[in-house]
Amino acid sequence: MNAELVDERIAELGRHVLDGGTLEKDDALFLFELENSADIHTLLSWGNRIREYFKGNKIHLCSIVNAKAGACSENCSFCSQSALYQTDTPRYGFVDPEPVAEAGEEANRNGVTAVGLVAAWRGLKEGPMLDEVCDRITEMKEQGQTRPDASLGLIESQEVANRLKEAGLECYGHNLESSERFFPEHCSTHSFADRLRTIEFLKNAGIKICSGGIIGMGESREDRCDLALSLREVGASVVPVNILNPIPGTPLENQEPLPPLEILKTIACFRFIMPTKEIMVAGGRTVNLRDLQCMIFQAGASALMVGNYLTTLNQPVEKDLQMLRDLGLDPDWEEFDEGEADGCGCGEKESCDTSGATETIETVTA
Ligand code: SF4
Repeated sequence: MNAELVDERIAELGRHVLDGGTLEKDDALFLFELENSADIHTLLSWGNRIREYFKGNKIHLCSIVNAKAGACSENCSFCSQSALYQTDTPRYGFVDPEPVAEAGEEANRNGVTAVGLVAAWRGLKEGPMLDEVCDRITEMKEQGQTRPDASLGLIESQEVANRLKEAGLECYGHNLESSERFFPEHCSTHSFADRLRTIEFLKNAGIKICSGGIIGMGESREDRCDLALSLREVGASVVPVNILNPIPGTPLENQEPLPPLEILKTIACFRFIMPTKEIMVAGGRTVNLRDLQCMIFQAGASALMVGNYLTTLNQPVEKDLQMLRDLGLDPDWEEFDEGEADGCGCGEKESCDTSGATETIETVTA
């Protein structure tokens, strides 16, 4: 297809999305498979238009506090918190109320909408740990304006999801991580279906879903496309896009990084597929995009994980806020009319899912 026809097809799909249309897989895959730099820049400009149309100039911010680190029983190959890998990641048990309260206060000061309580473990069952988690959520809720969110792994029953809702939880982070086909390539201790089941329990309890994935693990473009289509299908309100930051000691420590333009293209494709959702760039942003970080908004991102990730450092919040001001974007979520934003209100998150740790990826996954 010549350049003119490619431009026209991208524009046609962009107009279709602006008119409220839904992308079929063939159309979505066409966008994911764009190779040429000029074509990708055309795609980014449409990603920006779609973001502006559905989200205005408001950028949703969220942060996380790692409530329990390391020694996780699962074997997610991107994660430095797995007990199976030798990494430098700190290990500690479920945190006391004070650090969680401090994280909430800092988030309030920075105008961050939500703080996600993230734990590195397989998941939550009924018992004393669930009681403790519910106490922390209720305390955060009573503390101030910042909404408590959580990313606490697999949920084993509807009762657990209902308890979280009763404690005051509004949004839960649980990434699908990758396509169903690629999932067994990076994790064998639980399945894609386990993650879908957890999301189903949460939705039944009336909890909003923050769910995204990690790119750059060796998956194909079609895997990224299928991940986005699955996220659309489960109705995620917030969609964290983490980019692998290979951590020494993990199986993916030598994984070749994705080129920045490929990352920006993926963000734009996610915007085309989920035009009204919060597409949030989370772990791996600084290390993979470097000076191109500000282009995530041109690509269609409408949310940003700020503060440190689970196991890696982010740039200072002040620098992110300055970047938004320089771009004429507004991080003040509270004044935003959610309108079409479908889901949102949820906000937040990073990618987390129970598993947490993408960050390691700089990802936030739990
Ligand atoms: S991603 Fe989450 S579930 Fe997987 S090893 Fe890391 S902490 Fe455990």
